[in-house]
Amino acid sequence: MLEVKALCRRFAGVAAVEDIGFRVARGEVTCLLGPSGCGKSTTLRMIAGIERPDSGTVRIDGRPMSGADTFLPPERRPVGMVFQDFALFPHLDVAANVGFGLQGPARQNRGRIGELLERVGLSGHAAKYPHELSGGEQQRVALARALAPRPCLMLMDEPFSSLDHRLRDGVRDAALDLLRETRTTVLMVTHDPEEAMLMGHRIAVMRQGRLIQEGRPDQLYDRPADRGVAAFFSDLN
Ligand code: ATP
Ligand code: MG
Repeated sequence: MLEVKALCRRFAGVAAVEDIGFRVARGEVTCLLGPSGCGKSTTLRMIAGIERPDSGTVRIDGRPMSGADTFLPPERRPVGMVFQDFALFPHLDVAANVGFGLQGPARQNRGRIGELLERVGLSGHAAKYPHELSGGEQQRVALARALAPRPCLMLMDEPFSSLDHRLRDGVRDAALDLLRETRTTVLMVTHDPEEAMLMGHRIAVMRQGRLIQEGRPDQLYDRPADRGVAAFFSDLN
């Protein structure tokens, strides 16, 4: 479904991402895990098309998105995105935010928007503006908005990290249910090993721009590639 090969990106001569390669199978959730500054967001942004790789290839369903002589802009990639800071449009109400990426007039999309808002538990909030919502509610609107055009692939960058502990569990459960029901393929960045274990069918561990280990959560837990990976999971039980 998603195939990333030998992706590299340097900033001012310093490598942020070096030779990253992995695959994500259809319907699976893969968590990209690693410490701050290790290149997680840069990797995700290159897959989204927001950042241009220096080299390497990105394919979705076999279609080249980015390579030696291809570079599709983000709007032409079949991906949805959710970021840490929501980035809802402050001047649009909830329904218009959710419907933003849909073709055709709002009235034609009312059914789809209503269905998504119901799924994320915000049916009564369609006419509210972002500033009238709590953080968790805003994040669920962002999730509904990203899923509205039925993306093949959902890219999520620390989508729950700005929520407090209590809110986070609820929003995470809602997201998991929705992603599973819609069988959406997901690549999610997190620096929280517990979250990666909870959400990922697979986990890819990065450090200093490189991919250190990729596998199922139990594989990483039982047979960490090195002490660094082991340390990530050592506090979990
Ligand atoms: P965090 O967990 O803190 O979000 P991250 O793993 O997402 O970290 P990146 O944002 O991918 O890390 O950054 C990787 C490295 O590349 C960092 O050293 C960062 O300073 C650098 N970097 C990222 N974007 C740029 C940019 N536009 N210009 C210069 N350097 C950048
Ligand atoms: Mg980041």
